[in-house]
Amino acid sequence: MIELWAVGGYSLIGKNMTAIRVDDEVIILDMGYNVGKVVEYEGSEGEELSKLSYEQMLKIDAVPDDRKFHEGWGKMVKAIVIGHAHIDHCGAVRVLAPRYKKAPIIATPFTIEVIRNTLEGKRLPNKIIPLNPSSKYEISKNITIELVNITHSTLQTAVVVIHTPYGKIAYANDYKLDDNPILGKKPNYKRLKEIGKDCIALISDTTRVEYSGHTPSESLAREMLKDVLLRYVDRDMGIIVTTFSSHIARLSTLINIARRMGRKPILVGRSLSNYLSAAKRANVFSTDAEIFGYKRQVNKALKIANKDKEDYLVICTGNQGEPNAILSRIANDETPYRLEPDDIVIFSCTTIPTPVSEANRSIIEQKLRSKNVRIFKDIHVSGHASREDQKDFLQMLKPKHYIPTHGGIDKLVIAADIAQSIGYVLNENIHLLQDGQRLVIQE
Ligand SMILES: [Zn+2]
Repeated sequence: MIELWAVGGYSLIGKNMTAIRVDDEVIILDMGYNVGKVVEYEGSEGEELSKLSYEQMLKIDAVPDDRKFHEGWGKMVKAIVIGHAHIDHCGAVRVLAPRYKKAPIIATPFTIEVIRNTLEGKRLPNKIIPLNPSSKYEISKNITIELVNITHSTLQTAVVVIHTPYGKIAYANDYKLDDNPILGKKPNYKRLKEIGKDCIALISDTTRVEYSGHTPSESLAREMLKDVLLRYVDRDMGIIVTTFSSHIARLSTLINIARRMGRKPILVGRSLSNYLSAAKRANVFSTDAEIFGYKRQVNKALKIANKDKEDYLVICTGNQGEPNAILSRIANDETPYRLEPDDIVIFSCTTIPTPVSEANRSIIEQKLRSKNVRIFKDIHVSGHASREDQKDFLQMLKPKHYIPTHGGIDKLVIAADIAQSIGYVLNENIHLLQDGQRLVIQE
């Protein structure tokens, strides 16, 4: 028998956690934060979320509510597999994994290193197993886990495939189909097609289903950034770029463009420093550009950059206008870097569509505008599959059952519509779930 428990990520974007039961063994897929609540908490309290206990995290709705699941299936959990390094997929490992302490945590080396950063020196009782993309790990005589290389907006993202005696279950949350990634390999289409020969179920990302066509490659984001930045090669204004700290490929592009402009790239902010150190430890990316994580170092570096603005390209945290991040602190004159009219701020990101992010972004843009800073927004391509990509992916994996995830019902119904357009039938082999619901996939 195969059954799915939608613990989190089916009623909103974030809090991802799905469990698959194969007879009497259970595999947990992802344990993620509710990013909106995390930003809200850290912003309003100025507190660090990492100090909160499991109960406190549940109270502020920052993690999946796994209480009923724990009671029902907890004892059967054999492994926790994390698909990639974004905190809405791996952030809650710190508080939830110890509740299933006999289960090892399996993920790609980069994802494992990012999880280690979230622990801040504490140890988990769980065994930790780094597994390279394109390799397998046997959980029991009936279950093997395979990680298949896919592209997204962070490195070493995997489609998690659970091999069972009934067939294969694929978990692609999140993904995009990028044939020209800047770092890492393109999706392993050959293996995905092979898995399509006996795929019983696909659980996949719907974050961007409402967009038509194909999500452009990360190499297009590189061209967009070059198009803006190289116009200012011989100019002496200050230039600041902010992007997602986990987007290592984007950071690599920015470092290269800075050098082409004859400017020294400096990377400023704690989460940038964390992700880059994880990438280095996992041997997936390293740079000789200078990185400053702690407040004193940050202020020292920004003081130097402020003196000779034309010599530096500042890459910093705060793309969502988070009140405690570097860009907000610069905009509030809380660092030695002083913004002047004609300085440039580039947002190489989109605004995450949550009320908190939208409010924070509008506040910071207003502050920047009041200083007559020149703003460039949305110099970015998404890391999530659009409508036609979703069809290609379904046709590649040919799952018997399709279970869209990572969105509220508004996204899930669009995903259902896409699947219907290629022959799937709602409630027969397309299943729309909400958090807490269960689904028997195979008797
Ligand atoms: Zn992601």
